[in-house]
Amino acid sequence: MSERPVLGGSAGATDTGRRRRRNEDAYVCEPPLFAIADGMGGAQAGEVASRLAAAVLEEGGLDHGAAGDAEERVASLIREANRRVFQRASEDAATSGMGTTMTVALVDSRAGEIAFGHVGDSRAYRVRDGELEQLTQDHSLVGELVRSGKISPEEAESHPQRSVITRALGTEADVDVDTFTRDAEPDDVYLLCSDGLTDMLGDGEILELLDGAPALDAAARRLVEAANSRGGEDNITVVVFEMVQGSLEDTVTLPAAEPAAQPVLDDDEDTLSGLERVPAVDTAVVPAEEIERYATEQAAAEPEPEPKRKRRLLPWLLLLLVLVAAAAVLVLWGLYR
Ligand code: MN
Repeated sequence: MSERPVLGGSAGATDTGRRRRRNEDAYVCEPPLFAIADGMGGAQAGEVASRLAAAVLEEGGLDHGAAGDAEERVASLIREANRRVFQRASEDAATSGMGTTMTVALVDSRAGEIAFGHVGDSRAYRVRDGELEQLTQDHSLVGELVRSGKISPEEAESHPQRSVITRALGTEADVDVDTFTRDAEPDDVYLLCSDGLTDMLGDGEILELLDGAPALDAAARRLVEAANSRGGEDNITVVVFEMVQGSLEDTVTLPAAEPAAQPVLDDDEDTLSGLERVPAVDTAVVPAEEIERYATEQAAAEPEPEPKRKRRLLPWLLLLLVLVAAAAVLVLWGLYR
């Protein structure tokens, strides 16, 4: 019965915000599993996508990812959520093209570790020793531009393309999931959130609200209220959980891994005929320098950020590809004519 960092309390909160009519975010707060999903798509498709993805985690629990360590389970859950959303989008024209972000945390109190899995621009943060650290890297256009040194983090905050994401769940048959594991320490506080929080509040404000609240549910509520008081331009969703000094008897532990894993819903893919498949949008074929040049030109041509932004998954990249292809055809025609 040794003392160690184990999962303590947790809380979640979500709000439509002040500018959107619908809440396309969803969250999961089922200790030791936590997640945020931020949907995108026309009509109600964004809601369908984020709720479907969250439901896979809630219903299936950890069974879908029963084999392997916590990190493999997280990746497996996210891939299963991707299959479900993609399948629905393929079957139902009204939801065609829908997608969602997903950021997942799975606490393994036995190992004193937390496994994270992540697709899109929702985020995971950790507060330790009074400092807020972002654990995830945004899969977004501005995230790429900041990492490559093209723009500063400050410029990213007001960049007109800041809601363009480079990866999402449900838009392709397979998804590339980032996973990583962090050692937990007693008194760590973790935050998962959608961009409706981080677009409205700076790191200092988030840290202050997390540190100053008397309890986690109050912290979650205050974060949402603060984002709303700053304008609430998007749906706002947060999940917070803390690690405490304790013993395994005091906490919710991860079910033991089953050695013989069931094949995960093979029938899902079988129900997709070739005709039902939507063409995959392979964002990876676009060279990074094309993304950067295009984004820089767009930023210059569009100095005023659009106040009400809709999340989009690179529709203009397709246009760019078409233009590049057209240019290539013209050049070849010129050479061989
Ligand atoms: Mn959002």
